[in-house]
Amino acid sequence: MNLLDLCRTGVVIGDGAMGTELQRAGLAVGECGDRWNLERPDRILSIHTAYIEAGSQAIVTNSFGANRWVLDRYGLADRVAAVNRAAATIAGQAAGAAVCVLGDIGPCGGFLRPLGAIDAGDLQAEFTVQAAALLEGGASGIIIETMSAIDELCIAIRAAAAARAPFIVASMAFDRVPNGNIRTMMGVSPEQAARAAVEAGADVVGANCGTHMTAADFERVTGAFRQTTDRPIMIQSNAGSPDLVDGRAVYRLSPEAFADGMKGVAAAGANIVGGCCGTTPAHIAALARLLTTGA
Ligand SMILES: [Zn+2]
Repeated sequence: MNLLDLCRTGVVIGDGAMGTELQRAGLAVGECGDRWNLERPDRILSIHTAYIEAGSQAIVTNSFGANRWVLDRYGLADRVAAVNRAAATIAGQAAGAAVCVLGDIGPCGGFLRPLGAIDAGDLQAEFTVQAAALLEGGASGIIIETMSAIDELCIAIRAAAAARAPFIVASMAFDRVPNGNIRTMMGVSPEQAARAAVEAGADVVGANCGTHMTAADFERVTGAFRQTTDRPIMIQSNAGSPDLVDGRAVYRLSPEAFADGMKGVAAAGANIVGGCCGTTPAHIAALARLLTTGA
């Protein structure tokens, strides 16, 4: 299932969070969620299945941190391809033919030179390995998400293109800064992000996560994207701003309030709407209900 074809049929419903659902399924703080593709595929499969039953038309693989740098922290640096292939295979088992599987690429967790020690060529090669393994495992296309740096975003887009991804979603994590503007942690505006992403080869531009982002902020981002490009727009919001409880972020926005906010974001022009941190199958079910029946 190609996401771009799906977008031509109307507003597409994405899925909710994977990370916070893994914690609910028993993943300990500091444990590697991506390892569960190899060791607990049944639990990943049930999370995907719950989202599809809730109404998700596009689901995201459990491979957010499955790049060499993040996996290295858990002694899995030599398993990058295996972890990603497994992530896509599990999502495909849940999806069948009717649901689009987005192969997930998250940030490498470090900074590119000269800010940090990571070489741009290495990064592109590693993201290409990740994207290729996701596609080999059956992902319909690639989503690059929660990016803050525009150079890392563009490198990941070029890597996905090098791996011959049928479509590429490029999504950055914005937040509202004290002067009221919306920027990524690295100071990138929605307009800059959309322009650079499309130039690098993205088919869909997006925004996800963001600690202090409200639905109204995402409507602003959607408007800024639309002024910059006519490509489809994907918005995945958190379930509100988190409270820190025993070292863990707790998200309290109700499924109904989340659905209501995302309905507004869709009305502002977003083509694909879903959830990020703290959203659950109940949030997606409420969103699907509201978008399909208006209740
Ligand atoms: Zn998030």
